[in-house]
Amino acid sequence: MNAIVFDQKLRFVTDYADPVPGEGEVLVAVRLAGICATDLEITRGYMGFRGVPGHEFVGTVIKGPRAWRDKRVVAEINCVCGQCDMCLRGLSSHCRHRSVVGIQGRDGAFADMLVVPERNLHEVPEAVSDEQAVFIEPLAAAYQVIRQCPIERRMRVAVIGSGRLGLLVAQVIKTCGCQLQVIGRNPLTLEFCEKKGIQGTPVSELVPRGDRDVVVECSGSPEGFDLAVRLLRPRGTLVLKSTYAGDAPLNLAPVVVNEILVLGSRCGPFPEAIQALARREVDVESMISRRLPLSKGVEAFELAADSRNIKVLLKPG
Ligand SMILES: [Zn+2]
Ligand SMILES: [Zn+2]
Repeated sequence: MNAIVFDQKLRFVTDYADPVPGEGEVLVAVRLAGICATDLEITRGYMGFRGVPGHEFVGTVIKGPRAWRDKRVVAEINCVCGQCDMCLRGLSSHCRHRSVVGIQGRDGAFADMLVVPERNLHEVPEAVSDEQAVFIEPLAAAYQVIRQCPIERRMRVAVIGSGRLGLLVAQVIKTCGCQLQVIGRNPLTLEFCEKKGIQGTPVSELVPRGDRDVVVECSGSPEGFDLAVRLLRPRGTLVLKSTYAGDAPLNLAPVVVNEILVLGSRCGPFPEAIQALARREVDVESMISRRLPLSKGVEAFELAADSRNIKVLLKPG
């Protein structure tokens, strides 16, 4: 089959072995897939991943139990054992033996087909298009923020980073009705915020006053952490979405002095994301900058790294 493969270098191949579903797994034909920051990190060595990247996708089940066959689906990305202490405690996204679609120990969606566990599947309702559905995984990660840190109307909240994830997190938090500001560097994405009725502030114009109740850090850069700490009031909450690569030096003293609560946040609930898209509470379509065939995947990665583009999608076939 056709696939984008990363093995020290990213390339498009036409002779990648067709995936074969194991027990409890289904074979999915990819309809559309999205490139995110994690994929770009993978090409810089993140997780030491080798194989087919891609974890944001919508597809059709072509092999598996009859109940799923021909269904349009998305899939949660953590593939879990169901038996370890984390799984038994209901914390299966932290399974001790997990593999992660297109990120860790398992091929992903930048291919004609991929294999996922049946238990990971969610059917996509008719009201949600393929172009929306491809955002369900990252949107679920955005919903995880308000699941871990409930936001009330009276709160003052800032999102640092106006990239792909920041824009989704901001739209989700906006539904809470709080006072919200997005802080970023990219005029294009800050303008997107303003169009959605969210205050977008260039980081260069920002004067931190130490008065935010909650700051969500989505910038991916250690400077975002420093800024978040300066924005927060004492006893405020910092929700950390960025995985800082390498050994970035962070100044933790103000976290202690101001008794800041730091919450790490990763994958989130698919049903909330699906519902929000079906009800059109979150706009993802206007985040799509480019659509390319899978055969142009290498070029698509370059476009996704360019700040003039927000979301770049890949279409097999
Ligand atoms: Zn992603
Ligand atoms: Zn487990």
